[in-house]
Parts: sequence; C-alpha cells; structure tokens
Amino acid sequence: MSDIVLTLDSPVKDMKGVGPAKSKAFERLGLERISDVLGFYPMSYEDLRSVKKIADLEDGEKTLVEGVVLTARPGRGYGRKRTLHLLVEDSSGRLEIIFFMAGYMLRTFSAGSVYHFFGRVKKENGRAAMFQPTYSPAESSDKGIYPVYHLTKGLTQKDIRKLSAEALRLAESGGLEETLPPAAVERARLCPICEAYRGIHYPKDEKDYRQARYRLIYEEFFYLKTAMLMSRNRALSGRRGIAFRGRGAQDFISELPYELTGAQKRALSQILGDMSSDKPMNRLVQGDVGSGKTVVAEAAFAQAASCGYQGAFMAPTDILAKQHFETLSKDLSPFGYKVGLLCGSLSAKERKAAVSGIASGEIDIAVGTHALISDDVVYKDLGLVVTDEQHRFGVSQRQKLSAKGESPDVLVMTATPIPRTLAAVLYADLDVTVIDELPPGRQPVKTEKFGPSDRVRAYARLAEEVRQGRQAYVIAPFIDDSDSLDGRSAESLFTEFRETYPDISCALLHGEMSPAEKNEVLQSFYEGRVSVLISTVVIEVGINVPNATVMLIENCERFGLAQLHQLRGRVGRGSHSSLCFLINYDSSEIARERAELLCSTGDGFVIAEKDLEMRGPGELFGYKQHGIAQLNVADPVKHSKIASAAGEDAALVLSADPELESPENARFSELLRARYSGASRLTL
Ligand code: ADP
Ligand code: MG
Repeated sequence: MSDIVLTLDSPVKDMKGVGPAKSKAFERLGLERISDVLGFYPMSYEDLRSVKKIADLEDGEKTLVEGVVLTARPGRGYGRKRTLHLLVEDSSGRLEIIFFMAGYMLRTFSAGSVYHFFGRVKKENGRAAMFQPTYSPAESSDKGIYPVYHLTKGLTQKDIRKLSAEALRLAESGGLEETLPPAAVERARLCPICEAYRGIHYPKDEKDYRQARYRLIYEEFFYLKTAMLMSRNRALSGRRGIAFRGRGAQDFISELPYELTGAQKRALSQILGDMSSDKPMNRLVQGDVGSGKTVVAEAAFAQAASCGYQGAFMAPTDILAKQHFETLSKDLSPFGYKVGLLCGSLSAKERKAAVSGIASGEIDIAVGTHALISDDVVYKDLGLVVTDEQHRFGVSQRQKLSAKGESPDVLVMTATPIPRTLAAVLYADLDVTVIDELPPGRQPVKTEKFGPSDRVRAYARLAEEVRQGRQAYVIAPFIDDSDSLDGRSAESLFTEFRETYPDISCALLHGEMSPAEKNEVLQSFYEGRVSVLISTVVIEVGINVPNATVMLIENCERFGLAQLHQLRGRVGRGSHSSLCFLINYDSSEIARERAELLCSTGDGFVIAEKDLEMRGPGELFGYKQHGIAQLNVADPVKHSKIASAAGEDAALVLSADPELESPENARFSELLRARYSGASRLTL
C-alpha cells in the first residue's frame, strides 16, 4: 500500500487508512478523487487560536477553553451508552462538560490533566456547560483555525481534515494548475488558486479567509458569465435575422381604445428597434401582473404579420393559451390577421385544421402550448416567437420553437419581477426590458391579514361579495388531508365551504386532476357558473377572470412572497375594487412581517427584493433551468459587485480571444466546457 504514489486524481480509497467502509462514506459526500475535497468547502470553522476564560463564556458561543480536569465520573446509561461528566477548572471559574455515548472513553481523562475543549457553550443561571466538545491534551493541542465539514455516517472531522490536508499538499507541490485566464487573475488581483483553496480550508486569519472566498466567488461568476457571453455571441454571430420594416405595429397602436403607458411605449420602441435590425432579437420583457405586456406582444405580432411573417405565441397551459387566443383574435382580426389555436385539448379534426393552416401560411399568428413545437408542426415562415411566463418553460423548449423558423426574433415575457442584480446573472444572454408602470385607473387590491381565530370573518366578507355577483378564489397549500401535516387542504376547505354556504356554487381544483377535469372546472368558473374556486396553487399563472374580486389565501405563511403577489394578481383585473385576504397561522415575527409587507405594498419589485432577501434566489428562480446550478458559494444578490466585475473581465478576455483558443486560456477553456456542457442551457 505504502508505495502508491498519490496524485490529486487518485481515488480517495488509495489513501492510507481509508478502507472500503470509509471510501463508501466519502463517496456519499461526492468525494471520489482526492481533488474533489478541494471544492468541498467547510460549513464552519473551529477557531483554536485563543483560549477563552471560563468566567467570560457566553451562552451559545462556540469557543476554546483550557482547563484542568477536577473530576471525571460516568453518568447515566449502560455500556456504550453511558454518559461522562467532567468538571473542569481554570483560573477564572468552573465548567461542566458532558459527553454522550461515552462508554469507550471513561478512562480518557484523569484528574489533574490539562485539556483543551472546543464546543458550544450553554449557560444557565451563571453555570456554564459544554456538550460533546472536541478535545485534546493541552500540550499537544494545535493552534490555528480548523475546518468543520458536513459529515456523514462513518466519517469524523479528523477523516475529512486528513483528506483535505493531503489534497492541499498535493496541490501545492505542483499538482494543480491555475484555473482562470491569467488576464482575469491579474485584473481582479486574485490570489492563486492553491492559496484560495488553502485559505478556504485552513485560513491563517480573517483576511486570508476573505481573500480566498473572494477568489472562489469571483471564479464561479467568471465561469458562468463567460459561458453565457459565449453562448450569446455564438447565437448572434453570423446569424442574420429578419429586418422587419412595416407599419403593422403603428396601425395597431393607433386603433387601441386607450393610450399606451410610458413604460409600454418604451418597451415597444425597444422591441421594434430590435425587430427592424437584421440581428435576431433576444429580449426579455418583465412586467408586473396587469402591466400590459400582452398588448405589447400583440403590436409585435402585427408588425411581423404586416411584413408577411408568421408569429407563434407559446403559453404554459391550455387555459392560458385559450385566453391569449381569444384576446389576440379579438384584437388582431380587424386588421386582417388570422389567429389560430393549437393546444392539447383540441379535437383531432381541429388540430388537423390548425396544423395545416400553420403550414400553408393561412394562419398568421399561432397561439398555443407545447403543441406548437410538436414535430409535425411546420411553419410556412416563422419570424417572431413569443413565450409567455417563461420560467415555466425549459430553455430548450424555447430553442425548439425558434428552430421552427430561420433565425426568428425572440421575445420572452415574464410576470416574475426579477431584481436587476439577479437579472444580470440569470439573463446575461438576453436584453432586458422592464415595464414598470401600471395602466392608469387600476385600483390596488386591498390586502388584509387574518389569524385562525378570525378567519370566519374573511369568509363572511367573501360570501358577501359573491352574493353581490362577484367571484372568488380560495387557495390552500395542500390537496388533501393526507399531506396537510401543517396546513389546510383544498379538499377539507371545499367540504367546509359547501356546508357553511350551501347557497353558493363552488368547485374544487388541484394539480392531481386530469387536464380535462381541470379545464372543465376552469371553464365553468370563466363562464360564471361557479362562483368560488377552491384550489391549490395550480391557478397561479395568468388566469384572467375580471369578475373575480376576492382572493383568499389559507396558510399564507407557507407560500413565498413573490408567489403570494402572483396569486393576488388574479384579482383586481376588472372595474370592481378587489380584496385579498391572507390567513396566517404562524405567530412568528417573520410570518407577521411578511403578511404586513403584502398588506402595505402592491409593488412586485419591492416584494421580489424582499423575498430574495428572505429565501435566497435558488428556490425562487429555479436555478437549474438557468444553468447556474453550478453556483456554490457565489450568490448573485449578495455578491452582485463581484458578479459584475467578473462579467466585465469575462467580456474583456473574450474580446481578445473569442473562442478561448490561445494557449494561456486553454486550461480554462477545457474546464469551462466540462462544467457547462450537457444538462445546462448553454451551447458552447
Ligand atoms: P399582463 O399581460 O402584463 O398581465 P395584460 O396585457 O393582460 O397585462 O393587461 C391587463 C389589462 O389591461 C388588459 O385588459 C389590457 O387590455 C389592459 N391594458 C393594457 N394596457 C393598457 C393601457 N395602457 N391603458 C389601459 N388599459 C390597458
Ligand atoms: Mg399576462
């Protein structure tokens, strides 16, 4: 065994003292090769640089003490399960130390010996205790800062520390080359990669740690930004798009019964600018619910159609597609443009007619769902692709639709407000337009919060509205009681509502119903045959029933802020004033604060920023879809400055070497491709 020469590429099991069981355990942590541990950053650190006096210990802190063992006596339990109690003293006071499952160490400590103990302090009534600290005899004790890793069964901190120390030794003795282009390292004044790994695992001090962390965060952004920029350049270079020059948009706008808001005008002029150039458009339009994105898209479709090109409008659900179809038919057919519908709920005959209309060019604008990208759907001359509510689509679906035309212009619309800092990272490959203004005369949705004890009042007011002819939504976090460990279920609310208000027609809707059943329920709600829709969040996206004026959300503490805002956006869409009732079952400060924020503002961006702050971006924006799942320590919001620095440097490096072909970028290029090929969106 001992003559195996280890390298960073060696399997962990080649290390001395790592048998089959330990190597399995390492594998569970994703550590197969020795080098893997370099990117396995510590969760926290043990600071063993200075010893704290027992008298100065504070409740809850993690620290190091040095003391002489006065007594060591076994406590409760038998055999291995026995506890061990130590009484330890230094010049300032006494500390009790308790070990569990300590049967094997009953003889470790003898009275009079001096030890170091590191652990969390519990202090009650002036008496200090430590449970399960790490320990070592004072004279052999190491000083310094030590990593604390995430563990798994069968491994101790010592095992992983041994591995990381070995990996660092191999890296520093020449096993690890620089991973970034030298130009970036120089511009950003980064420490070399080996120093960064040393500093994140075994920092000498705070400064050392910060420098290491900066480099590792920068590096993650640099990879991501480079990948996005390359993908974008690739998409644009050499690809000639269509230069739409027509009057369609202008004619459409001049016939609208209202004036566009300033924000809509700005958005449209950017879009028409893109469309008139022969570079393919790649633009994201984000605007809060009700900000009037659809009409902007309609103008773009009119523009394309007036130039003789087809448009395709893809929505995430049948219901939404139908809604858009109705709106577009109504608004665009007066101009002689034919709008067609293609979605899953068409009959075979209807589908056939739609597919042939798209192929012949008889249909100018095809509105639909994924059905628009089915293999047998062929467009005569697809020039403009618009996707609605894009976070529901994988990027590959968007690309598939684009591929049905020859470099069509692409517009992506989303109602999820994305803070600028985050958009810069998520959508580096798209130009971003924000519609940050609501049409005039919109009445804000009056939002109120209730607790479990007064929720009946909320229902009574809902019933009152319904009896005056309005409609209402009731949203629950769960479908049925089997998964509602801690919250209301749509089914139980449905039963309860029918019993309490037998005179009001209500219906149940949830994600486990078949598409046909869902459509049926939604249809009856649209037509007003059902007054109250009791539902899970399946209705979150884009449903538009202007007569609905009440949104009641049970267990609002279980939803994200941005999601609550989306849900609230389902009401306040007509001329009647609307209400949103949040039923909060969580008495914590945070839950109260969240509910109050929603009551106090209707601004989606303010809410999104707050949501981001509270929950972090990964959960919120489905990082996987955006190809930034690889971000580990880097957080686009917290580290937005580093992100933009890395972005600038990436652009500079690429401007000198667009394909990363020069020898000094070769290693980076190889690592980049390894990281971003395969599952992610980026085509390198
Ligand atoms: P979004 O798609 O952004 O949620 P919509 O496009 O559905 O918003 O617009 C919501 C409603 O506002 C629609 O009924 C639309 O006709 C209307 N609307 C859009 N723009 C204006 C405007 N500038 N002035 C008045 N009403 C508008
Ligand atoms: Mg919409």
